[in-house]
Order: sequence, then C-alpha cells, then structure tokens
Amino acid sequence: MSNTQAQPTGYCYCGCGNTVGYGRYFAAGHDKTAEAAFLAIHHEGTVAQMLHAHGYRGVADRSEKSSVTKAAVDQGLWEECPKGCGYRGTRESINNHVNRYHQD
Ligand SMILES: [Zn+2]
Ligand SMILES: [Zn+2]
Repeated sequence: MSNTQAQPTGYCYCGCGNTVGYGRYFAAGHDKTAEAAFLAIHHEGTVAQMLHAHGYRGVADRSEKSSVTKAAVDQGLWEECPKGCGYRGTRESINNHVNRYHQD
C-alpha cells in the first residue's frame, strides 16, 4: 500500500470529531456528509461541476474519452457489460447487472 493513501485516524473523516471503529474512515452515513461539503467547497456543490473540472462532460458518443465511465473502463478500474448493452461498473456491479438483466 502506498503511503500517499488516506489512513484511518480513529476519527470520522467528515471532521465531526466522532470516534470510529478500527480501520474505518467514517461514522455511518458521514461519507455522504463529507462528500457534500467537499463538493460545496470545490465544485459549487454539484457532481456536474466536479466532472467538468476534470475534463468530463455529457457526450453523444459513449466511446469518447470525455465520458467519465469510459475513462474508468480505459484505466482498468471498471468493466463493460459483457453482453454489450452499454452498462459500465465495477466487476461486482457488472456481475449483479448481468444476473438481473441478462438472464436467459
Ligand atoms: Zn462524521
Ligand atoms: Zn448489460
């Protein structure tokens, strides 16, 4: 593990001061609080502005590199649905998706 990664401190990463269990970063639900505060500070409170700041946007062609889900697949972090329906997600998410929508 790289030492540039966030390490648990024993306190909630949202900054509320609550203690959290060993190896945890957040009290239950506080990851959403932290995310909202971060977006408010850095990206006018919206995911769209955050994506824009990193060069992503809405595209007609899903294979364009300014598609954030395409970028995740290109970097080997996410996968495409093996049935070719266009769904993208984590391996676990793909498995759930295939089981739910592509049962023969
Ligand atoms: Zn918190
Ligand atoms: Zn699919």
